[in-house]
Amino acid sequence: MKDRLCFYHTAVEAVGMCIHCHKPYCQACQVVTPYGKFCCHDCSGKYAAFKASWKEPKLRSPWLGPLLSGLILLALLAIVAAWAGHRFLGISALAPFDVISRFFR
Ligand SMILES: [Zn+2]
Ligand SMILES: [Zn+2]
Repeated sequence: MKDRLCFYHTAVEAVGMCIHCHKPYCQACQVVTPYGKFCCHDCSGKYAAFKASWKEPKLRSPWLGPLLSGLILLALLAIVAAWAGHRFLGISALAPFDVISRFFR
């Protein structure tokens, strides 16, 4: 980096390169964050937002959690409804779906 000059101070030698915009920066411009070193606070903020918004969808979709718990809740409700309908209301058509009675006879 010795041969490069700061993007903002063209008379000052650069000490590194911004990992967001790839501009060279000097010691005075340098912004150090847990994400890395940047040329300005604007870049560090943008990079942090970029990291935060791109890390999440890769780990798991935001709608997958509620969808799965919704499906599980729906299945539980169906099982309970079939059990109650068969047991207490005497609906024989629900007998094949009465999983609870089959297990706890
Ligand atoms: Zn930058
Ligand atoms: Zn500078």
